[in-house]
Amino acid sequence: MKRFVLVLMVLGVLGGCSGGERSSGMAGKLVKQYGGEKTRPDKVAERFVVLLHPHSGEKVSLTYYEKGRYDAKAMQAVDRLFRDRNANVTGKIDPELIDCMVDIRTRLGLPPTVVFEILSGYRANGTNEQLRAAGKQAAKESLHKYGLAVDFRIKNVNGKAIAEIAKTMQRGGVSFYPSSNHVHVDIGNIRTWATR
Ligand SMILES: [Zn+2]
Repeated sequence: MKRFVLVLMVLGVLGGCSGGERSSGMAGKLVKQYGGEKTRPDKVAERFVVLLHPHSGEKVSLTYYEKGRYDAKAMQAVDRLFRDRNANVTGKIDPELIDCMVDIRTRLGLPPTVVFEILSGYRANGTNEQLRAAGKQAAKESLHKYGLAVDFRIKNVNGKAIAEIAKTMQRGGVSFYPSSNHVHVDIGNIRTWATR
């Protein structure tokens, strides 16, 4: 079994070499690289999400997917809320990252109106380097730089429980950060890592 896990780790690294930067982006030591197929977003008629940037109070409520397609205007509003406020740069957020959050919400049995508190969305390269220099838990090839990762929490919902549910989805990387009580979710390889 140990050898099997090791092989998967090597495959993950190789994937990174061939341009699959989604395989890296961990802030801590890899605990487990999972095998198997990644799951796809739930098939639903429409997708609604409420996002809050708690520090500024900025909030959006959006139907970002309906009639079989993502709404470009709504996704622009997502990009804006997820922007790097340190560098003042707006990046592109992959809509499937928001799908992942919505599907987590569904599995938690929470209503669509529940508020996601976004602590970190898109991160410009300089900001990520600053975080690393300050000793913060940020990976060099952080998936935040590619609009594929988010750090969030939901008021009155245990972050560890959110992370456990997210892991069962097999959609990407998940880790719970007890020191700040937030969950990191990304749509890279299916894995988890040690945090503090
Ligand atoms: Zn993160």
